[in-house]
Amino acid sequence: MTDASAAHRSRLAIVGSGPAGLTAAIYAARASLKPVVISGVPAGGQLMLTTDVENYPGFPEGIQGPQLMEKFRAQAERFGAVFVDANVTAVDFRVHPFRLEVGLSGRVEADAVILATGANARWLDLPAEQRLRGHGVSACATCDGFFFRGKEVAVIGGGDSAMEEALFLTTFATQVTVIHRRGELRASRIMVDRAKANPKISFVFDTEVVDVLGGETVEGLRLRHRKTGAISQLKANGLFLAIGHTPATEVFRGHVDLDPKGYLKTSEVTRTSVAGVFAAGDAYDHRYRQAVTAAGLGCMAALDAERFLADHHVGAPAPTGATAAGSTTL
Ligand code: NAP
Repeated sequence: MTDASAAHRSRLAIVGSGPAGLTAAIYAARASLKPVVISGVPAGGQLMLTTDVENYPGFPEGIQGPQLMEKFRAQAERFGAVFVDANVTAVDFRVHPFRLEVGLSGRVEADAVILATGANARWLDLPAEQRLRGHGVSACATCDGFFFRGKEVAVIGGGDSAMEEALFLTTFATQVTVIHRRGELRASRIMVDRAKANPKISFVFDTEVVDVLGGETVEGLRLRHRKTGAISQLKANGLFLAIGHTPATEVFRGHVDLDPKGYLKTSEVTRTSVAGVFAAGDAYDHRYRQAVTAAGLGCMAALDAERFLADHHVGAPAPTGATAAGSTTL
């Protein structure tokens, strides 16, 4: 167990503990870099909000999201990764070693940093929607579409993700209803044409979802027409949110380059605008957003950080705080 009040000094700090951060931690720990993982609170990323994960290779029977994350973390700890269970509250990437303020009063200093803070799907924030998350309400058709074979589902959103999710869901569902708050779709022409040409997809425009109906699982939706105010119900066994994602990068704003939507900007896959600071996972990848792709990017970021440290001849620092394997809550 590490001392919660100690400053941590490491060759590598990893911010985030989803598949990207933890895979980076496994690789870096096995390379003897003794990474400090600032896990974020709550730890574990988006998979902590998922039930069955059936598309992560190596688990033919499927696995629960939180259990998968526990296994990732145990594997990183086995090789010596140190966990600080706190959020990063401020960073300074102009100084060397880089400086990260964590929790209420902690600090991590590191010669290289991997940013793997992920992104959060946007939700409508309806009470029933939150209660039925993982029980018919999802923000990832690729992850959960399979569970809706022979059923009727609804997709909320009018962008490319909504079209893509709707098209994907037609593989399983008998009927897919796209519900959009305006009369005009935001998605690209080609995606709209594809969706409109699919006989399983229908559209409901100028409409918002005001309630999700059902006890244990989703049974239907209550809709409100935004122009007339008319209330109606739609039968649906599943509800897929496709109203965008928000990258968890606010704390890095002004310290590394972000794109207009707040995603980390990179070159050569994992390099951010600051030498020695790398990116992995959904904090910069808004295209694939899968656990397995995030894990792959975590691996790449760790290999790139290891090479950076070797190229810059940054050796192991003298220990000033706790660096033994274990975890700290700040
Ligand atoms: P997006 O383009 O921002 O679209 C989000 C959609 O959700 C919009 O139609 C928006 O409505 C709606 N929305 C937002 N908040 C809402 C709320 N509270 N209630 C109801 N509806 C709400 O997001 P995205 O579709 O995830 O796409 C993100 C980026 O990835 C885009 O640049 C997109 O082109 C790209 N992408 C590309 C592909 C592809 O090319 N195959 C696939 C997926 C994503 P309004 O239209 O009224 O604002």
